[in-house]
Amino acid sequence: SREFKKEDSEINVKGNIIGGKKIPVMAGPCAVENKTILMNIAEKVKEGGATFLRGGAYKPRTSPYSFQGLGEEGLRYLADAREKTGLPIITEIMDPRDMDVIIEYADIIQIGARNMQNFRLLLEVGSVDKPVLLKRGLSATIKEWLMSAEYIMSRGNQNVMLCERGIRTFETATRNTLDLSAVPVLKKLTHLPVVVDPSHGVGKWDLVAPMAKAAVAAGADALIIEVHSNPEEALSDGEQSLKPDMFAQLMKELKPIAQAV
Ligand code: PEP
Ligand code: MN
Repeated sequence: SREFKKEDSEINVKGNIIGGKKIPVMAGPCAVENKTILMNIAEKVKEGGATFLRGGAYKPRTSPYSFQGLGEEGLRYLADAREKTGLPIITEIMDPRDMDVIIEYADIIQIGARNMQNFRLLLEVGSVDKPVLLKRGLSATIKEWLMSAEYIMSRGNQNVMLCERGIRTFETATRNTLDLSAVPVLKKLTHLPVVVDPSHGVGKWDLVAPMAKAAVAAGADALIIEVHSNPEEALSDGEQSLKPDMFAQLMKELKPIAQAV
């Protein structure tokens, strides 16, 4: 909490600061699909100005019959893409049994919305020396979310960032309701960096850019955005993925907003 620590926490990932003056952007596909596609997207988001490469190798899909991710093979492709582009990688952990292999590859570990209150998983990531991006649960209050961050930090890992990714409401025009008021609320309550995921927040590619800009204006410390070279063919979340040129355009438009806040 702010009472415990007054100044903002900064998380340094290979020289890239999250929680500082700059607003780093994590970009890439929802899921790692194959090596060629990932390499292509990685190079494009790097060109566009991304600081981190995102990509899931273990995917929490609603249907057990949907693509579940490539597992360790996907992690290897992420590492190849990091080598090629220099972008550090963020990827999701779903099961503590995958911890050893994930920490071998990941620069930031993502806890997905569906696991925000998987307390055993939280304790496990709390025990390793890797920054953690903790997504807000589908129906979690800010208080519950902060208690989940406490679970991680109680085990010693202080490098936690919070990611607003939309919550369930009665509204159906968007996939979720992106709660941007969570950003200033969290800034008041906690010293932890606040990340916003407009992609899962709205679920539709044409709504991603306006909400990304609004997130920066609201005080977000970083963004995480889904980008795919061929969204129509994507194995997951194509409808909310930006094409690389749209991503590059958005990055340009974010600059003046970031400078103004
Ligand atoms: C994702 O980042 O692709 C993802 C599954 O996110 P969330 O946990 O927010 O649904
Ligand atoms: Mn996704």
